Amino acid sequence: MNYFNYVDNKLWCEGVPVLEVAQAVGTPFYLYSHRTLKRHFEVFDSAFEDIPHIVCFSAKANSNAAILKIFINEGSGIDIVSGGELYRALEAGADPRKIVYSGVGKREEEIRYALESDILMFNVESSQELEVINTCAGRMNTVARISLRVNPDVDPMTHPHISTGMRENKFGIDIEKSLGEYRRAAKLDHIKVIGVDCHIGSQITQIAPFIDALDRLKKLISSLRNEGIGIRYLDLGGGLGITYDQETPPHPKAYAKAIMDSARDIDCTFIFEPGRVIVGNAGILVCEVLYTKNNADKRFVITDAGMNDLMRPSLYNSYHEVRPVELKERKDVLSDVVGPICESSDFFARGRVIPALERGDLMAVMSAGAYGFSMSSNYNSRPRVPEVLVRDEAFYVIRSRETRADLARGESIPDFMR
Ligand SMILES: *Cc1c(COP(=O)(O)O)cnc(C)c1O
Repeated sequence: MNYFNYVDNKLWCEGVPVLEVAQAVGTPFYLYSHRTLKRHFEVFDSAFEDIPHIVCFSAKANSNAAILKIFINEGSGIDIVSGGELYRALEAGADPRKIVYSGVGKREEEIRYALESDILMFNVESSQELEVINTCAGRMNTVARISLRVNPDVDPMTHPHISTGMRENKFGIDIEKSLGEYRRAAKLDHIKVIGVDCHIGSQITQIAPFIDALDRLKKLISSLRNEGIGIRYLDLGGGLGITYDQETPPHPKAYAKAIMDSARDIDCTFIFEPGRVIVGNAGILVCEVLYTKNNADKRFVITDAGMNDLMRPSLYNSYHEVRPVELKERKDVLSDVVGPICESSDFFARGRVIPALERGDLMAVMSAGAYGFSMSSNYNSRPRVPEVLVRDEAFYVIRSRETRADLARGESIPDFMR
């Protein structure tokens, strides 16, 4: 459920017409609904109220400070995958003891930063990483709390590029090998084993893969406890999917119920790392139609936003609904909606029957709140677009549009060329 609706044929975000924001900030821009963000977090968090748990919002889905702050104010922790995300989380006021750090390639400098910040735990993805964390913690005269990220080898039945918990993926440690790794970890002087972690993929629209993974983690936890290795946290990662098109993902309440039915008695604090399910449908990308043309019997709608602003369609061929910001009397036509970037993969919609958009129309790319701005780039030397947050009848620019000068920031021409 979200708060982007048509009123008198015009698209509104909560109590603000999208057109009004476009007039104020220009196009393209990302637009988020505060009420939707807050609601999505509350629904997810409260679904687990019967068990001890921490929701750690996955910062990579949307790392804007104001967005992080909304969740932090609701009691959220943060799931990070880099020192940069740790910095953003701390700047936004996150409680370090609710920060978990995943990722296969943590650098020593990032590990030290996380240790200094006293985060809750590292989700360790390899035995070499475990060694490095132990060494760093030893040099700093401290102890690192860790989980091993195990690869439970379940098929999340999602797009191969966003599946992470199968044996052939780069993530985590094979579950068969994990017991041995845990034994090793338990003997290291500067490591304290506190949990078990997995994250099996993203945009998962069924409950079964989560429960399969959970069952394997439960078995591992009981083996570990039998050996006297104390496990207090069970981190089930993120990955719950959303409706972009026709998908029917489980409601967070159904997801939570299945998890609690299967693991209520396990005596752990549960950690969840949702990203997409919280922010995905709470944001849109608004752009303007620059030109239309017909090539080979196909109508091309060329917008002022491109794959550098929202790369999911080019990267994963993913579906995003496109809607006119103002519904006019237009007949439906088969269209490709494309951006201005010099790449054939620069598109938002292909072969889509949509109302004929015309030059000057505003268009919204829906479900763009997750992995939208956070994946955007300056490709083709395009300044990154602003992010705007609506709350009731007011809107706030939470990241301003980059300038052309920003594009060359940090670059320098060596003296010998002058
Ligand atoms: C990306 C990621 C998440 C969030 O995934 P969503 O599909 O957005 O919920 C959670 N945990 C880890 C380790 C991740 O890499």
